[in-house]
Amino acid sequence: MPELPEVEMVRRVLDPQLVGKSIRAVRLITPGVIAHPGAEEFVAGVVGRRVAGMERRGKFLQILLYDGGRIVVHFRMTGCLLLVDTDCPPEKHTHVVFSLDDGRELRYSDQRRFGRLWFVPAMANVSGEDRVRPADEGATGLSITGMDKLGLEPFDKRVTWKYLQEKLGNRRISIKEGLLDQGVVAGIGNIYSDEILFASRIYPGQEARTLTVAQWKRLAVQIPLTMEYYIETNEISFEDYVKGRGKDYRNTPYLKVYGQKGEPCPKCGTPLESARIGGRSSVYCVKCQK
Ligand SMILES: [Zn+2]
Repeated sequence: MPELPEVEMVRRVLDPQLVGKSIRAVRLITPGVIAHPGAEEFVAGVVGRRVAGMERRGKFLQILLYDGGRIVVHFRMTGCLLLVDTDCPPEKHTHVVFSLDDGRELRYSDQRRFGRLWFVPAMANVSGEDRVRPADEGATGLSITGMDKLGLEPFDKRVTWKYLQEKLGNRRISIKEGLLDQGVVAGIGNIYSDEILFASRIYPGQEARTLTVAQWKRLAVQIPLTMEYYIETNEISFEDYVKGRGKDYRNTPYLKVYGQKGEPCPKCGTPLESARIGGRSSVYCVKCQK
């Protein structure tokens, strides 16, 4: 499942390609992938609009439109955006096709079909009056996507050890589950929670309320460092992205523990173990993460 570094990679690859392009037409093959509004309103909302740029928030990708509206995408398990020439054979499981004015198509495919797209109009006239309300997250409709509930970005300076302790320090959940809570720090999933905890030398199953100040401090340092490191190692050219059909990026390189069960720990050589913690599999080193 794409997490923050993978979504950020897609943004960096597609943003320069999409800026300034207009959406000529939309073909909605599977209307069910549109979470909001209805299929017809989605198409009517985006056709004729020009792309101003792309942003990422947590694991959400946003295509910003010049009129202030936006298309929001969440890939969930297997969602994928590919920008290709019209004559390029379509991926299996293609659900939405945006035709652009440069002759190319932006195609959304998703094998498992858990991913969703939203259209958020420029400014919802929530009061029903003609006067437009100021653009806070509620008024711009971000509540419909759930983005308004996201916690801080990992790189936000407010992600201090005190913030983490305040948000998670009283909870009877494992620290692994705490890191997965999108309402605390947004964008961390199963892969990077394992990597962050390995880098912080903390056992994933340790109860959040038992963490020491030294452990909170290590976490606060390792959260942005780890995410930044994997954004860099995930970097890929647009050509390679297209060649890999937008999917190769999932084979994130340089992972130290995730998916490495049984392999020697990169720090001490002890074979890495895996356990089910909070319903998710977790890989860790018994020696380094006590
Ligand atoms: Zn080790």
